[in-house]
Amino acid sequence: MHFGRKTLTRYTIEQEHRHPGVSGEFSSLLNSLATAIKIISNQVNKGALIGALGNAGTDSASVNVQGEVQKKLDVMSNDVMLQENEWSGNLSGMASEEMEDVYVLPTHCRRGKYLLVFDPLDGSSNIDVNLTVGTIFSILRAPNPGKDATLEDFLQPGTQQVCAGLALYGPSTMLVLTTGDGVDGFTLDRDIGAFILTHPQMRIPDDTHEFAINSSNSRFWEPPVQRYVTECLAGQTGPRGRDFNMRWVASLVAEAFRILTRGGIFMYPKDSKDATKPGRLRLLYEANPISFIIEQAGGKSTTGRERVMEMSPTELHQRVPLIFGSKNEVERVAGYHAEYASGKEPDTFNSPLFSTRSLFRTQ
Ligand code: MG
Ligand code: MG
Repeated sequence: MHFGRKTLTRYTIEQEHRHPGVSGEFSSLLNSLATAIKIISNQVNKGALIGALGNAGTDSASVNVQGEVQKKLDVMSNDVMLQENEWSGNLSGMASEEMEDVYVLPTHCRRGKYLLVFDPLDGSSNIDVNLTVGTIFSILRAPNPGKDATLEDFLQPGTQQVCAGLALYGPSTMLVLTTGDGVDGFTLDRDIGAFILTHPQMRIPDDTHEFAINSSNSRFWEPPVQRYVTECLAGQTGPRGRDFNMRWVASLVAEAFRILTRGGIFMYPKDSKDATKPGRLRLLYEANPISFIIEQAGGKSTTGRERVMEMSPTELHQRVPLIFGSKNEVERVAGYHAEYASGKEPDTFNSPLFSTRSLFRTQ
């Protein structure tokens, strides 16, 4: 049954042969990453059987650098990512959502030419309720190969990524990858312990009838996002002239995979809920790798004001607004931001007639 199907190992070696300048280090790095993902998948899958659910440590010890409650599986997944990748000789440093500072490799490990930055378990608030979670990673070139990486080494714009991937621990375990040559999806075949290429060259439809946003924050949104969502909700009777569906899984990897599969738009926009946070999602290990994958599949990704991958990072754990998905809808939302900034919003948006249609009318 598996004859002729392409494993991840074969895929990476064939890619290497197609690009003569590429060394074996890159496929070896992907191989160790795939092993880490299989181990995490196994732990997530076993769940309560291995005591993996619930919060890590005592209440005060279980808050990570983001001020978020750490789950046991957050800590376990982070440890797996570090342990499976540090010895490979391909990396000069790692950084993770779960660690405040850059991770320095143990002294006995050889330093290599890449940097790895990751969210070891994305959507971890979904673990205890048995919904899809995942791992997100981004690979950058080390500015000083062979030497320990510094914090500054990681502060590269997303356009500099050499690879980005997301693993999905859902009904199937999947790995979605880009090296800047389109997006390929693999499904883990547990019987043979290998990822098999099942979704070659994924493409996001340019148009969509589906949007995803956490509406409980609507009163904190900026006017361009209010306008976009209000128009979607108005459906056939509004300016869009057609009905929309809403989805919200509260798991970035699951939302991204749905959009990769059938289109859609995801928004975690800038809001006024907490003035100290310009957005919710983290640039280096969430927004950038997701944006790279989405753009490589023909979609778009913006903060509303600029292309995510062109931002110059200033901090390891920097947060940004993130709006991505089907090209035409993302362009529309970005256009609404531009109109708002230039004061050229249509009058209809502020008219009483329009307001009566809005479910999000605040006064
Ligand atoms: Mg996350
Ligand atoms: Mg996480």
